[in-house]
Amino acid sequence: PEFVLLDTADVGAGWPVPAPMDDKYSQGVVGVAAGSANFPGAAVLAGGAAVQATSGMVRYAGPAADVVRSHWPEVVATGSVADAGRVQAWSVGPGIGTGASGRAVLAEVLESGRAVCADADAITLLAEDTTLWDSRDPDAPLVLTPHSGEFARLAGDFGGDRISAARMVAARHDVVLLLKGNSTVVAAADGRVLVNSSGHAWPATAGSGDVLTGLIGALLASGVEPWLACGYATHVHSLAAEIAASGGRGRPDTPGTRGPDGASGMGAPI
Ligand code: AMP
Ligand code: MG
Repeated sequence: PEFVLLDTADVGAGWPVPAPMDDKYSQGVVGVAAGSANFPGAAVLAGGAAVQATSGMVRYAGPAADVVRSHWPEVVATGSVADAGRVQAWSVGPGIGTGASGRAVLAEVLESGRAVCADADAITLLAEDTTLWDSRDPDAPLVLTPHSGEFARLAGDFGGDRISAARMVAARHDVVLLLKGNSTVVAAADGRVLVNSSGHAWPATAGSGDVLTGLIGALLASGVEPWLACGYATHVHSLAAEIAASGGRGRPDTPGTRGPDGASGMGAPI
């Protein structure tokens, strides 16, 4: 087939679960470089998603540490990316801005040799300043998670369908390219593509992309292969929206009957 569809059983089967002898480091340490004085919420959302997903520890690098800790006391602040210790993967970009400080933190993260999920302002920075790509450690996996506006900055005026466009950019930059929208396409540099078409529009709200970035960072830190990490995160993200939209009663059975009023949940929450 041209693309892969993951169902909840696939995601459940691959979702990292701590083994008896695991500790917080082996579960996965996620670095979150997000937020700024003007946009501390992006750091709270990305950091909180990383806490709640599969991570053993979340380390936060940025100017919003106090706000992040007031929401997620288990987050460990670090002075800088370089001081972050045993971070296995970084989520970078939401709310960092596109100025000098955002650029500097992105360059540090790209140089770190760790797996990286770059989103939002990080994508804009990479699109506007191609010299930033030189900071990248070629051995470290890089995931980019643009919405269509960010994708256009990166890819220019691409022709064709979203699957071909995502695949083209993934191959061109040797990244996993997750193109967000009503249906999300995840393309790997080797041509693999998966699609998540929940078709659910409730995530079309400010901050939901920041949550996805934190989820992906956590899965990368837990050792999930980047293309699958994106597929799992996208699935859980849209499933959460469906469950929330059904008033917590479960996954709505049919499209078009969702929403807190008149939602048709199927009973027990998943
Ligand atoms: P962002 O634009 O970065 O805040 O990310 C928005 C998130 O919501 C992404 O995960 C999108 O896939 C999702 N999303 C946005 N619009 C829609 C929509 N109309 N239907 C379903 N999901 C959407
Ligand atoms: Mg976003």
